[in-house]
Amino acid sequence: MEVFRVGVPFTTIEARMRRHTAGGEVILAEPGIGEKASAHWRVEGVLFNPLLIAVPIWIVVGFIGPTLNKWDRGIKHRAWAKRWMCTGCGYDVQELPICPECGLKNIPTGSCEKPENFDRGL
Ligand SMILES: [Zn+2]
Repeated sequence: MEVFRVGVPFTTIEARMRRHTAGGEVILAEPGIGEKASAHWRVEGVLFNPLLIAVPIWIVVGFIGPTLNKWDRGIKHRAWAKRWMCTGCGYDVQELPICPECGLKNIPTGSCEKPENFDRGL
């Protein structure tokens, strides 16, 4: 009896076949030659494989995505500040004390921060 198992780490599908040969000739075959082997779903594989594989992947994706986004925004905002652009929206503020586009306070060092009474009125 040969047992074929599919699924990692737990078996999801299992099929059993039996073949006996003598002198190169099949003398017993279960299921018969030309018939499909019956396959059975295994509960542990169906339930736990997606949890053990997909959940960690989504945790990693959920961590990497925001980290890359924050890193990218930091690079973009520093580049805007060097070119005297608002770090909030990228508007060219030059010597303006407050960004007319989003209301962020423009600091002469080339970086922007919110004024004390900042309110976008949203
Ligand atoms: Zn702005």
